[in-house]
Amino acid sequence: MTTGSELTVLVLGSANADLVVAVERRPAGGETVLGGDTVVMPGGKGANTAVAAGKLGARVALLGAVGEDGYGSVLRTSLESAGVRTDLLRTSARPTGIAYITVTPDGENSIVVAPGANSDVSPADVDASSAALRSAAVLVCSLETPLSTVEHAVAVAARAGVRPLLNLSPVAQLSSETLAQLDPLVVNEHEAAWLLGEPTAEVNGAEDGAEVDGAEVDGADLARRLLALGPRSVVVTLGARGAVVATPQGVHQIAAPTVHAVDTTGAGDAFAGALATRLGEGDDLVPAAEYAARVAAISVTRSGAQPSYPTAEEVDG
Ligand code: AMP
Repeated sequence: MTTGSELTVLVLGSANADLVVAVERRPAGGETVLGGDTVVMPGGKGANTAVAAGKLGARVALLGAVGEDGYGSVLRTSLESAGVRTDLLRTSARPTGIAYITVTPDGENSIVVAPGANSDVSPADVDASSAALRSAAVLVCSLETPLSTVEHAVAVAARAGVRPLLNLSPVAQLSSETLAQLDPLVVNEHEAAWLLGEPTAEVNGAEDGAEVDGAEVDGADLARRLLALGPRSVVVTLGARGAVVATPQGVHQIAAPTVHAVDTTGAGDAFAGALATRLGEGDDLVPAAEYAARVAAISVTRSGAQPSYPTAEEVDG
């Protein structure tokens, strides 16, 4: 089951404090409304992914940055309690990344993200952590940290024989060199459409199972066309419809277990963390994606992102 690497998974990515407040309605410009009590939740795509892997038992570290403030301490503690190594999480002079989230009674979110310390994660941080990176079986990146840093890390990983996985969220235009190393590129259907240059109303934060341009998308077709852009393999996640895996050997549909979904926040990060864990343990991409779909399905049956992620025992049990 083990590849002999010191780390199963190294996650390069963001850590944010999510500050959530319920409001009856959003204020107009110049207006003030009163909301409920603030709820502080650990978040950020990188931290979520690392926590998902940690809860599944992976040897995992988060490479990133938080501020020298109370939120930074909260995030370190929550990562460590999920078994994530934080020795590569630098303390930056900038404040910890914060997502300011208002939720209205219809369940709709409005979010302002202040990236803060996450913007400060640099190629030099990757170089300073290169021994740990080279010891990992899999590198996982997402794009709430600077693109130049992610592209550098992917190049270092590829040269060292570490398998690079990129969750292209939020979307950004990658160099063809980076794209060619990804194994896999992981996108949802909206990110896939964006990458293929197709018109789509919403790219990030689109509703689960949403349609792109009025018609249900053909995930297999998207995955095949993305593979033609150059990555070694592709996973397109399709919300309640599961996922599609494309490799040069063929295209495979991954069914999502049927569950009663209560909160899909962070489902994509759970999927990425679980996928990386199983790839790092030596699974092939298709069984790893089947496992990731089981993990993500459990996560949507519970509230929140990190608190909703299951342990390996819960997945197997
Ligand atoms: P998404 O980012 O919405 O594509 O979701 C990521 C992954 O989470 C999907 O590929 C599914 O494996 C899982 N997932 C999301 N929503 C549901 C749902 N309603 N039921 C079961 N699994 C889900």
